[in-house]
Amino acid sequence: MAQRRTRILSEMTWPEVREAIERGAGVFLPVGSTEQHGYHLPLATDVILPTELALAVADELDFLVAPPVAYGYRSRPLSGGGQGFVGTTSLQARTLMSLVEDVLSELIRQGFERIAVVNWHFENQNFVYEAACLALERHRGSSARILVAEHPFAELSEATMKTLFPEGFPGWDYEHASIMETSLMLHLRPELVLFDRAVDDASKRHPWYDVLPVPEDFVPASGTLWKATQASEEKGRITWEEIVAQFREAVVTELAGTGSPEAVRHER
Ligand code: MN
Repeated sequence: MAQRRTRILSEMTWPEVREAIERGAGVFLPVGSTEQHGYHLPLATDVILPTELALAVADELDFLVAPPVAYGYRSRPLSGGGQGFVGTTSLQARTLMSLVEDVLSELIRQGFERIAVVNWHFENQNFVYEAACLALERHRGSSARILVAEHPFAELSEATMKTLFPEGFPGWDYEHASIMETSLMLHLRPELVLFDRAVDDASKRHPWYDVLPVPEDFVPASGTLWKATQASEEKGRITWEEIVAQFREAVVTELAGTGSPEAVRHER
């Protein structure tokens, strides 16, 4: 019988998933959004990136990748351009929390014990954490453990930051459809990037507080919050290697199963 090597849970059969659970495989749940990303990046950017991150380490750490959550919480004007763009299709916070809680709860019920939520969409933070708390509360006594990566990485090295932002770093809230996200997409999924349409943009005002209803001058017309034209495949490759390494280390540290990275390696 042919042995498939897929890590994508939805492409497997139930006996294959059962076999994976029995040998102690973990599961990643990528969480993103359906949200405008400027003139040049696809709406699924925030789904593609955490899914690629999960797939990047799935084989070596023996994880499956669950179907990603493709919708996210309301796009905020100062970190995602807001809700005023066609294509941005968002959930209320309670819907997102219920969705993530239900999916995590189902994964625990089936027997997965090593679980990691990988969120890319800034606005989903806290809601995915709350959902993970509630899912575990439903399964008191289970030995499931959930790593919640609300942000897909910590800080990047000084060298990478200089490469990415030679003119200075504006802050991660600006990094929407801009240098880093565009570079990562050029590296990972170049066929989805309309790079000749990329622009440098900025809102007229970007204060430290928010205002409702959303003031028009909080939102740049393109939906790109900073400088997308400074992106490159090379910047994407350098950044991606660092992000993957950080994520791998987090998963190995927290979800190694029997305790050490060695154990994870030998289990395969
Ligand atoms: Mn986003």
